[in-house]
This record gives sequence, C-alpha cells and structure tokens, in this order.
Amino acid sequence: MILRVNRLSYRYPGGKTALRDVSFSVDEGEYLAVLGANGSGKSTLLRCIAGLAPPGGETDPQAIQISRTPEEGRSVLAVVFQTPDDQLVAETAELDTAFGLENLAVPRPEMRERVSGALERFLPGVSPQTAAEKLTAGQKQHLALAGALAMQPDILLLDEPTSMLSEHARASLLEFLRQFQAEKKTVLHITHDMDEAVQAGRILVLHDGETVFDGTPGQFAGIPPDTLESWGLAYRGKPEEKEKPRTAQATLLECGGAGAGPFCGVSLCAAAGEIIAVTGESGSGKSLFLRMAAGITAPEQGEIKPAAGTVRALAVQESEDGLFEEFTADDVSFGPENAGLSGPALKQRVQEAMDRTGLPFARFADRKTFSLSGGEKRKAAIAGIVAMQPDILLLDEPFAALDVRSRGEMAALFRNLAAQGTCVIFSANRRADAEELADKILCLDDFRRTQEKPEAESGIQPPGRVQTGMTESSGAAARPFFSGGMPPAVKFLFCVFSVAASLLISGWPFLAAQEILLVFTAVQAGYRIRRLLSAVWKILPWLALILVIQCLLFQGFTEAAVFFLRFLCLLTALSVFVFITPPAEISYGAEDILFPLRIFGVPVRHVSFLTGLVFRFFPFLYSEADKLIMARKIRTGGYDAPAAGKTAKKKDGKIRQTAALIVPLALRTLAKAEKLSLAIAARGYSGKKHTRYLAWQLKIRHVLFLAVLLAFSAILIYGSRVWK
Ligand code: ADP
Ligand code: MG
Repeated sequence: MILRVNRLSYRYPGGKTALRDVSFSVDEGEYLAVLGANGSGKSTLLRCIAGLAPPGGETDPQAIQISRTPEEGRSVLAVVFQTPDDQLVAETAELDTAFGLENLAVPRPEMRERVSGALERFLPGVSPQTAAEKLTAGQKQHLALAGALAMQPDILLLDEPTSMLSEHARASLLEFLRQFQAEKKTVLHITHDMDEAVQAGRILVLHDGETVFDGTPGQFAGIPPDTLESWGLAYRGKPEEKEKPRTAQATLLECGGAGAGPFCGVSLCAAAGEIIAVTGESGSGKSLFLRMAAGITAPEQGEIKPAAGTVRALAVQESEDGLFEEFTADDVSFGPENAGLSGPALKQRVQEAMDRTGLPFARFADRKTFSLSGGEKRKAAIAGIVAMQPDILLLDEPFAALDVRSRGEMAALFRNLAAQGTCVIFSANRRADAEELADKILCLDDFRRTQEKPEAESGIQPPGRVQTGMTESSGAAARPFFSGGMPPAVKFLFCVFSVAASLLISGWPFLAAQEILLVFTAVQAGYRIRRLLSAVWKILPWLALILVIQCLLFQGFTEAAVFFLRFLCLLTALSVFVFITPPAEISYGAEDILFPLRIFGVPVRHVSFLTGLVFRFFPFLYSEADKLIMARKIRTGGYDAPAAGKTAKKKDGKIRQTAALIVPLALRTLAKAEKLSLAIAARGYSGKKHTRYLAWQLKIRHVLFLAVLLAFSAILIYGSRVWK
C-alpha cells in the first residue's frame, strides 16, 4: 500500500462541502480511475491528496497517508491539473519542465538530460525555447505532463488529462500510462471516458462528495443503467422527438478559401437549423477557424460572409476565458442585458439558459463564477452564449470536461436549438462526438497537409524513439555581447549603476554625456532607437507640460533641460535593461545580487522568485485584459472583425470601457494568482536548497564592462559636482 485515504472530508473556505468521509487505499503499481459527475469532488480529492487544498478549508491532516519517503532528486507525487492554462509556472517550455527539478535540487547536467528527454517525449517537434503561453491547449496539457514526469514520481495524479487532446494524442497518452504502470508506478486518473476507465485495474466513483463504488471494471459493468445515470456516468436520452421541420434554409454564413496559405480551399456554407462539426488533429486550426467564423479574427485569405443581421456568438475553448462576472447568474445575464432585456424577461431568459445547459438556476445562480468546478465553468460559459439566442452558435470543444450525462444533455440541447432554427457549429477532438451529432463535418486535416511547414505530430513519442541528449541552450560564443552569455547579475548591476548615475549627475552637459553613453550601450544591445523615441513620443504631452511648469517655477531653461535629460537617461537605462533581460533571468539575477543578504536572514530565494513573478505578471495582465475585452465583445454581439493583422479600435467610450474592465480584471487576477500558487507548490517550490537550469559564466569582458561603466559614471558624477 502506497497511499491511504482515511475518512477524508473537505469543506471549502466558502462553506461548500466537497468531500464526505472518503476512504480508500491504493497499492504500489495500481492504476485507479476516478469517475464522477461534474462537481462530484474529483478535483478536490486530488488536491487534498497532493496537499494542495486551499488553506482555510476544513479537513483532517491525518486523513492522507503516503508510505514512501522521497528519494534524492525525485518526487513521490506529481500532479497534472485539469485546466492546462493553470499549470504554467515559467515562460518557456524547457524552463517550465525544469522548474520541479530545480526545486528538487537535481544537478544541472542530469536536469538538462531529464528535461530534454521529457520534452522530446511529450512535445516532439516543439522547440524547448517556445513561450509556454503560445502553445495550444493540447500542447499545454502535454507540457504539464512533461513537467510532472521529469520529477520521476512514484505516484502520478492526473485530472482529466485527455480533455483537450485529439484522438491520436489521447491514444498515445494512454499507451504511455500503461507503460508507466508496468514499471510498478501508481496512477490515479480522473476521467469522464468509460473506455479510459476500463483500462484501469480499479474504478472509484464519487457522487456528491462520497464514494459510491470501488471495484474492478468487471464489477462496474454490472451496475444498473439507472444507477449509472444518477451518478452522471450514463445518458439514456429521452426517446428522440420527431424532428420538427426545419425553418427556412437561408444561408447564414459562407466561408470561402482561395489562394495559398492557411485554410486555402476550406469552404463551408452554414444554413439555419444545421449542426456542423469541425474536426482535426491538435494544431490543425479548429479554434482559429471558429474565431474567424465568429468574426473575431479576420481571415488572411478568402472571406467569411455572414448574412446581414445574423448574430454570431462563440464559446471559447478555455471556458474560464469567457467568464468575467463575480456571480454565475450575473455572468449569464450579461449578454441578454446588453441586448436590452430587463426585469422578469431577463430573469426568465437567464433561468432558461442555465437550466437548459445543466446548471440549475436554483442551485447555481448565486455561486461565485471562479469557484465552479471545471465542468460547471464549461456549462456556465455555454449558458452565457445560449442566453444571447444567437443565429449562429459557435462552440469550441463544448464537450471537453463534461461528464457523460451532461454531454448527452448538451447534445440534446444543440439538437433542440437547431430544430428551432439556430445554426450550431462546434469543434470536437473526438470524431465520435462529431459523427453522432452533426449534419456536416468539416475536417481540417487537409488544411494541415497543405501547409508548408507541417505542425509537429501531437502524439507522445514511444520510449524507443526518444533521444536524451544535452542541448546547449546558452552557447555564448556567437551571440551579441549583451543578449548572449551575459550573467543576469551583470545586467542588474548595469541597471543599478546607470540609474544611480542618472540620479546623481547634476549638470546638463554631463547628463547629456551620460545619455550618449546609454544610447551607445542600447545600440550595442540591439535595442532600436526608434523604439526609445516612440516611448518618449507617447508621453511627450505630459513631459512638455512638466517642462513648462519647471520653466515658469525656476525661470530658467537649465533646470528644465536637466529634468528632461535626467528623465531621458532613466528611461533609456530601464528600457535597455528590460530589453536585454528576459523575465526568466530576472529572478536568477535578483538572487545573485541579493545573495549576500542571506547572512542577515533575508529569504533571498523567495524575494527573487517574487521579483521574477511580478515581472511576469505584467504581460499576463495584458493578455488577461485582452481576453476579457474579447469575452465582453462576444457577449455584446457588437463587434466587427478587425482588418487582417490589426486590432479593432473604437474611440468612443474608451474610458467607460476601461473602467468596466477593472473589477473583472481584479477578479480574474486573484483567481489566476491562486491557481499559480497551487501550480508552484505542486512542483515542490520551497525557499530551501535548489539548483538552476540555466547557467552563465562570468567572463573577463563582463567584469571589464562593469569597471568601465563604473569609472565613467564616477567621472561624470564627480565632474558634474566640481565644474558647476
Ligand atoms: P469535480 O468532480 O468536477 O472535479 P470539484 O472537486 O472541482 O468537482 O468540485 C466539487 C464541488 O466543490 C463543486 O460543487 C464545486 O463547485 C465546489 N468547488 C470547487 N472549487 C471550489 C472553491 N475554490 N471554492 C468553493 N467551492 C468550490
Ligand atoms: Mg474537476
């Protein structure tokens, strides 16, 4: 026995009881599938086992026992969470994979080998330096697996790991898990797929926070269908109504593709009352196609012509990206309210949409949107779109994360909507979903083959094909002086010296000299002066105002010139620093600089790690704001497709629009921060002993550079004080 769960109960800080008296134990080398309806407590169970349940919740710490002590450089447990986006902890694929190993203090050569091995297995064909944010949902799921397996765990906890994977990728993951188990490793696999569950040696079913079944697949097969349906594990649809005659077959949307490039030759004509599925391997462009059909992204070639007056609305793939209000019912009502509905009519519309998508209004109206379970979020996001009653309902992977019964109910809803004249277009990883439901299937595989650079195969490499070799990522030789090989600490010192000098120099000729020096370093670093000028240009009106005030107050141009030059020096120094230091290097550099403070008991690792996180949060906020604007635009229905490559700009009401973003942005940021801290904890982060994936060598030229810089700054400071 390797894991024992003994009378585990858990109540969320908000008061929601998610687990009641759950007990079971797992032996070494066992493969346990965990089944249960959406919201039955599966993810909560996994979080409790991993020791990651939100603090403040009520639970018994003795309830989880793991009989295995960690070995050097390995972790007993590794977790892959439900939402791919919630587990990225570092900026690039390789740094993300390495994060857990850094925390386990694995020596660098071994770490490099393990990271490249894991990446070649799970993301073959993707460059290790790819920004993690840029990966598709399926690839992010694979990246999370790479990060977990690089830690060589004895127990692997997986929360719906195949929800965003294509058939092919799913099959190879399952094959991989079989092999993993064959090495006497333990797997706990949460899933909604019965065929995934029966490959497990044992099945555990949760219902409303309690274990209602624990046995072999054989015993599971003997459960009566009624019981299965009450647990959310089966759907026996009501006898299909005789199809109503469809309303007018007017064409709602025409997509044509011509010429070369993505989507050439892809064409689709969508009519009222039609159900259309879009299928294809991961990376084949399903999401992009849906965004284009929804009018959010403009096609590069060809055109998308909706009939005049059609309302299109899209439920995006990562459902959380489409949610923004604090309470579920408010979120669902956003669209219809914008369309002018109010009072009882609005309430009725919201209630109907929630009830129809399987999120009963009575139970969920007052639930906080961001505390819903994965499947509940999916339903809430779809309810918000359905409530708008669009002519064309677009859905990106609407079945991912839904339990079997919900899937059946959702499909029935789509059929009903179609019978009422709505055109439903959805993407599906599973071909079976598409074939069962759709009148027409658009398969994007062909598009992929006509692409010049074929996307990487999305499968997992079988062990035989993996080459583990060291990849030298920071070869200093052929790189420019600044961006290659320069230790981040040197970059930090450059920044500190330059900022200090810019503040301490007093006369304008000396400041001008300092600026020339900085511009010289900027050019050296490859930072374009045009960018610097455009930064100044943007704040020019404010700058001019301050300068005028300065002139009036001090009655002289000199003060104004000094102020202006000082400002310019600071701006240049900081811009160059940010330009030459990628976020990943910021925490490494901060740690080196702060290292001496350790003797005073300063938690240097925490401080520097936080610094790095803060810098990463800026681009994150930016992209969250983008997603938020998109989500609101979809629900107001009033967006025009921007011209290719450009984003739509609306001048009027900008301030009002911005103000409306602040609260939802704060909500999402908080939710994201909570997820990020979970992901960081899951990879064993602590302030203690750790190693580093990236390494730099301090070269003589770096020391010389700093010496020259220091000397120059000293001369300028001294000079400006002597020759006044
Ligand atoms: P699932 O079986 O779908 O994974 P979860 O374990 O995520 O279900 O959730 C179990 C129940 O706890 C659900 O009703 C869900 O809405 C609720 N819940 C999940 N996360 C939170 C949270 N952070 N705060 C309050 N309630 C939560
Ligand atoms: Mg879950």
